[in-house]
Order: sequence, then C-alpha cells, then structure tokens
Amino acid sequence: MDRRTLLKALAAFPFAGPVFAQPTKKMSTQDIEAMQKNWKSFLPAGAVVPSASEPVKLSKDEWKKRLPGESYRVLREEATERAGTSPLNAEKRPGIFACAGCGLPVFTSEMKYESGTGWPSFFTTIPGAFEKKTDYFLIYPRTEYHCIRCGGHHGHLFDDGPAPTGQRWCNNGVALKFLPKTAA
Ligand SMILES: [Zn+2]
Repeated sequence: MDRRTLLKALAAFPFAGPVFAQPTKKMSTQDIEAMQKNWKSFLPAGAVVPSASEPVKLSKDEWKKRLPGESYRVLREEATERAGTSPLNAEKRPGIFACAGCGLPVFTSEMKYESGTGWPSFFTTIPGAFEKKTDYFLIYPRTEYHCIRCGGHHGHLFDDGPAPTGQRWCNNGVALKFLPKTAA
C-alpha cells in the first residue's frame, strides 16, 4: 500500500487506531443469523450428514457398544468430563462439530469461542440441533441440553456468553466429533 492509498484508507476510518486495536470484531444479531443460515458452508466437500428428522433410538447395550466409555457416560448418563481434558478446546480449524452419538451437525467452528472454562464453548448453535430441559443435579436449576436426534446429553447452557446472544453452550468435548472442512 503506498502513502496515498494508506491516507485514503485512514480517512475512510477516522477511528482506525482503536478499531484495529480491538482483538475481535463485534458481532451483530444479523451476523449470528447469517452463521446459523450458512452452517452448511463449513461441511467438508462431499460430506453426507444425517438430518434431525431421522431419530436414533438404541438400547443401553447398543449405545455401550457404539460409544467409548467416557462418551457413553457423558452422552447417555449425563456425566461431565474433567475440565481442560478435551483436545477440542484447542481446535481452531474451520469445520463442523457433530454429535458423537449420531453424527448430527450441532455447531460450526464459527460459533466457537474461548470461554476459559476448559470446555469447548459456543455462543450459538446450528438451528434445531438441541432440545433443552431443566436439571437439578447440583441442587440449583441448570439448563441441560441434548441432541435432538439421539437424545445424547451434550452440556449446559449459561447466560454469561459474549454479545449479542449472551449464550454460553458449555459442551463436553467427548460428546462431539470434529469434521474439518478441509483435510489437514
Ligand atoms: Zn446425537
């Protein structure tokens, strides 16, 4: 960029300094709607994913056979994985997070943020991926959410997430399977 172009660019953004200094772009409600609408653009080329309208119902034994121990305990018995243990905490590639129980896409990489809690966290979801209920496992009520297709428990929803949704979908990593948009 030569000096003239630079001056022109600066003139277009009178508050260029502080804007450039901000670590992340402020999101609008329209940005969130666009993310929800365009989630399929994060699918790997040629990926075939199930739809929420084909429910999966298996017996306890069938689930045990299908899922490794910790995934079974989280998805089918509502256990919580130890904070900081999921490799998905550090996952930053573009792609889709699908339910580890049934493969239903539930979040895109664009919906993920660093909450500092030690669990993969998201500020919104792919529309229609989850159903919610109130649980009292810790005495006080919490909003539990589970996969609409297989009923598998994923995590809890809190209201201290980033604007504009204010949502923090605090998800167990073992309940998710990451599908990178492009093979690494
Ligand atoms: Zn599922």
